[in-house]
Amino acid sequence: MRRAIVLGGSFAGLMAARVLSDLAVEVIIVEPDPLEPDSLGRGAPHRGQLHALLAMGHTQLERWFPGITDELTAAGARTGSGSAVQFYVDGVLKAPVVPDSTMLGATRPLLERHVRSRVLGLPNVHQVRGRARGLTLLGGRVAGVRYTASADDDGVLEESLAADLVVDAMGKASRLASWLSDDGWGVVPVDRMTVDLGYATAAFRRGTELPDLVIAHSSPGPSSGYQPTLSEAGALAAVEGDRWSVVLSGYADHAPNRDPEEFLARMRRCVSPLRQIAEIGAFDGPVEPFRFRQSQRRNYLRLLQFPGGLVVVGDALASVNPIYGQGLTLAMLQASSLHAYLRTGVSPHVPARGYFQRAAAVVNAAWQLSTTADLAQPHVRGPYPPGYAMTRWVGDRVIEASVRDSAVNTVFMDVLHMRARPQALSRPRVLLRTAQVLFRP
Ligand SMILES: Cc1cc2nc3c(=O)[nH]c(=O)nc-3n(C[C@H](O)[C@H](O)[C@H](O)COP(=O)(O)OP(=O)(O)OC[C@H]3O[C@@H](n4cnc5c(N)ncnc54)[C@H](O)[C@@H]3O)c2cc1C
Repeated sequence: MRRAIVLGGSFAGLMAARVLSDLAVEVIIVEPDPLEPDSLGRGAPHRGQLHALLAMGHTQLERWFPGITDELTAAGARTGSGSAVQFYVDGVLKAPVVPDSTMLGATRPLLERHVRSRVLGLPNVHQVRGRARGLTLLGGRVAGVRYTASADDDGVLEESLAADLVVDAMGKASRLASWLSDDGWGVVPVDRMTVDLGYATAAFRRGTELPDLVIAHSSPGPSSGYQPTLSEAGALAAVEGDRWSVVLSGYADHAPNRDPEEFLARMRRCVSPLRQIAEIGAFDGPVEPFRFRQSQRRNYLRLLQFPGGLVVVGDALASVNPIYGQGLTLAMLQASSLHAYLRTGVSPHVPARGYFQRAAAVVNAAWQLSTTADLAQPHVRGPYPPGYAMTRWVGDRVIEASVRDSAVNTVFMDVLHMRARPQALSRPRVLLRTAQVLFRP
């Protein structure tokens, strides 16, 4: 492959550029944001929210950037396993997991800065500042992109770049689907689930309190009917700069706002680690709210015809409720899927159905996990998958057992961390163990 172009230089775009650097002579990232070290970038304002990296994400990160964990910890990030990572359901600390998963305590800007510096340090990867405006098509395949060099110029000074492969990494608001339908490729079917989630993240100064804790996570569960009555939903992570990053979340009318006093009051209704940080109350910056209205996935495989030379990664393909922390890991698994697909020796000029099939396997797992859980919220109105009532009942029992039993919790956390498919929770061994834990006299 002579040239691959990646549209969007945020996390998924950087991951795609990394894997393509092994397979193309030249990789060009087109990104409108200047993305200076500490800017959050207008194109992805959610960068400022607490981002957890799942265990599978951490494995993928080291796979593509060996030694990056050491770099991040040298820059102040923390890693934790065992009792340094605490998950609570309905206010109760879950049983320990064997073997432990390692989780990273770092802000997304730190993580992304290190990934960006590794990717842009590759000799065949370059970034140009610009906003993609459309594709160039030639004989049934994408042969390049049109972009404006200034991010804000509407259509003026359009430039073009030829490519063997174009990657859409333009995030959830990507316009690729409209470009394709305007060009006669059909309307891309989209699955949506309205969740109306509110998020708010704040930083706190970190002193000698809770010295061994890296991550604490609290979510409502079956005992409260998934409502924040026994404990608020929230998480904290020990991050670089001797800070705690604390996030609170809530649906619909219970969305957190930017009022610091209200934020502290909610932390006091959460699990013990968040309560302790609230008591010290050492804010290190404002409370930043964010609203996430809906999960969505675009089903490019269901188009009857699709141009060659084009793939889609990251939120542009699927964006799921962020409280399950899957987005970055999904982007990395999709990048690995792209690498595996292209390594088969297939021409980049043909429709990449093989890539989309591989990517669908990971997207479907994340979608199943997040939407099944979201449907427990009374304001979430579907769509309900077939057999939902039974799946929900069994899922609730497995969660109850996972709070008390390490063996069940180990499988549960493997699924949560995307190391196993959701189907692992309905294996006979897990169901039997669940029944023993819950119903043994
Ligand atoms: C509140 C919140 C909390 C989250 N928490 C977590 C978490 O804890 N763990 C986790 O793993 N994930 C989390 N996520 C999900 C994660 O942030 C996303 O999955 C991730 O940002 C997706 O990366 P992306 O590169 O696909 O898209 P984005 O990060 O949205 O980036 C899209 C990029 O495309 C660029 N762009 C847009 N239009 C164009 C154009 N026309 N031409 C060129 N470039 C363009 C933008 O400038 C931007 O840089 C969270 C998301 C939200 C909203």
